[in-house]
Amino acid sequence: MSVKGTKEISVEEKLRALFDLQLVDSEIDKIKTLRGELPLEVQDLEDEIAGLNTRIAHMQEDIRNFETLITGKKSDIEVSKGLIERYQGQQENVRNNREYENLSKEIEFQTLEIELCEKKIREFNAAAKQRREDLERAQELINDRSEDLAQKKSELDEIISETKQEEEKLREKAKQIEGKIEERLLNAFKRIRKNARNGLAVVAVERDACGGCFNKIPPQRQLDIRLRKKIIVCEYCGRILIDQEMASEK
Ligand SMILES: [Zn+2]
Repeated sequence: MSVKGTKEISVEEKLRALFDLQLVDSEIDKIKTLRGELPLEVQDLEDEIAGLNTRIAHMQEDIRNFETLITGKKSDIEVSKGLIERYQGQQENVRNNREYENLSKEIEFQTLEIELCEKKIREFNAAAKQRREDLERAQELINDRSEDLAQKKSELDEIISETKQEEEKLREKAKQIEGKIEERLLNAFKRIRKNARNGLAVVAVERDACGGCFNKIPPQRQLDIRLRKKIIVCEYCGRILIDQEMASEK
């Protein structure tokens, strides 16, 4: 019975196709291993730099806010100074002691206001200074990370450009082979490959054992494998088994 337009092929041909596909997929795995953790490291660095930029933007906003507050307090001080000057002028023309005392109280109040403003300005200045120091550290960190990023990116780009053509060819080849394999079997192959630590879904019998998990295979089962009439999987690891002769054709 034909499945989804796939031409009916013998079990032997299916096994051969699966093994071919395995070889091509293993080559692609090798290229991925070559790239290693680089794609992930590049992503992490990009995320970290984006985070630092956001933090820097917040710190710059804080600094601007403190500067606005300081300007406000400075103008409050000017207002108080103006009032003090005016009260002192009025003190020279008072008609009685009570008026003089009232003006003294006003002057005292404005002097306290100035002191309070100066205290606030010192606090705002200290906070702004802290932010500027944090900002400087964050900027240094960004510079460091940007250097790392440039380095890793160029390494990755180099590897990708070196292997790109090869990988494309392999992917094309894999697609062609996949077209020969019925969907159900192909899905099984992919599932086994995904679960296998070394990415091998098809392995040969080697020294009477499974080439994937190295468990012994009984003689009768080995005979069945050599007959190539049925797709046989390892009862321990679930990998598809082929005989040594088929494996050595490649
Ligand atoms: Zn096995």
